[in-house]
Amino acid sequence: DTCMLTLLKLLKDGRFHSGQALGAALGVSRSAVWKQLQHLESELNLSIHKVRGRGYQLAAPLELLEHEQMAAGPWPVSIHESLDSTNAESLRAIDRGQTAPFVILAERQLAGRGRRGRKWVSPFAENIYYSLVLRMDGGMRQLEGLSLVVGLAVLSALREMGIERAGLKWPNDVLVGNKKIAGILLELVGDPADVCHLVIGIGINANMRVASEVDQAWTSVFLESGKAINRNSLVSSLNQSLLTYLKRHESSGFAAIQAEWESNHLWQGREVSLIAGVHQVDGTVMGIDQQGALRLRVEGEEKVFSGGELSLRLRHDS
Ligand code: ATP
Repeated sequence: DTCMLTLLKLLKDGRFHSGQALGAALGVSRSAVWKQLQHLESELNLSIHKVRGRGYQLAAPLELLEHEQMAAGPWPVSIHESLDSTNAESLRAIDRGQTAPFVILAERQLAGRGRRGRKWVSPFAENIYYSLVLRMDGGMRQLEGLSLVVGLAVLSALREMGIERAGLKWPNDVLVGNKKIAGILLELVGDPADVCHLVIGIGINANMRVASEVDQAWTSVFLESGKAINRNSLVSSLNQSLLTYLKRHESSGFAAIQAEWESNHLWQGREVSLIAGVHQVDGTVMGIDQQGALRLRVEGEEKVFSGGELSLRLRHDS
C-alpha cells in the first residue's frame, strides 16, 4: 500500500509532522491522514504520538532498508515492504524466469518459514529477512555442505557486528549461548544433478526486543550488544561474507571449510540426541565429515548422519 509507505517515509525521521503537512505531501485530506496513521499503528505495530499543535511523531525513529545503500553489493537486490516470505517470493521469481543470482529482502514477513513448516516470527523493520537465489549447474558436488557454509557466512557477518560469542549448531543454526539469533532455510528447485536453483533464506534478529510468539530461547544483535544496529550495514556485510564463503566453497569444496566450521561448533564433544521424526539416536558429537555430515559416537562406534530433516538437542543430563 503505497500511501502507507509514503507516510512512513515522511515520519521515519522521528520528528513532528503536522496533519496538514502530511496531507499536503500525500495529496489527501487530514482525516484521511488520520485513518492512515491508525492503519500504520495497527498493521505494523508502530506507536505514533499525537501532540496538539505540533502534529504526529513516531515514538522511535525508524531506519528502513534502503536500496541505495546496497547498490554496490555483489547481487541485484529488491526490497519489499511486505511479503508472505522472501523464500516464497524467490520461488515465484524463479518461476517467472528472473535471472539469478539475485537477492530479495522484506521489511516484514506474513508467513515467515522455518524448517518443516515451522513459523519464523518476522515483525516490521526490526530484523533481516533475506533470500539469495543462485543458479547451480555443477551437479551434486556444488551442494555438498552448502547449508553449513551459509551458517559460517551468517556467523561471520554477526561477528562483524560485534557479536563475538555467536556460534553454530549443526546443521545450520546460529546461536549465542543457547539462544537462537538467526535461522537458515535452503530450498532447491529443479534437477539437483543438472541445472537447478537454490534459494538461501536467512533470517537474522537485528533490533528485535520483544517477541512473545517465539516459542524457544532467542536473542538479537540489539539484545546482545545493547545498541540498535543499522540493518543496511548488516545486509551489506551479509552479502560480502556470503560472497566470500560461497566462492571458497565453489573453488575448494567443503573439505577446505570443515575445520573452520568445527572450530565454531558450540556442541562439539557434547552429549546430544539426534531427532528424525519419531526416531532418536543418543550420542556424543565428534564433529562433521568432509561432506558436512554429523559424526556421532553412538555406543562406542562412530556413526555419520546427514539429511535435511534432522534436529539436534542437548541431552538434559549433559
Ligand atoms: P532445529 O530443528 O535444527 O533445532 P529449530 O527447531 O530451531 O531447528 P527452525 O526451522 O530452524 O527450527 O526455526 C523455526 C523455529 O525457530 C520456530 O519453531 C521457533 O521456535 C523459532 N523461531 C521463530 N521465529 C524466530 C525468531 N525470529 N528468532 C528466533 N527463533 C525463532
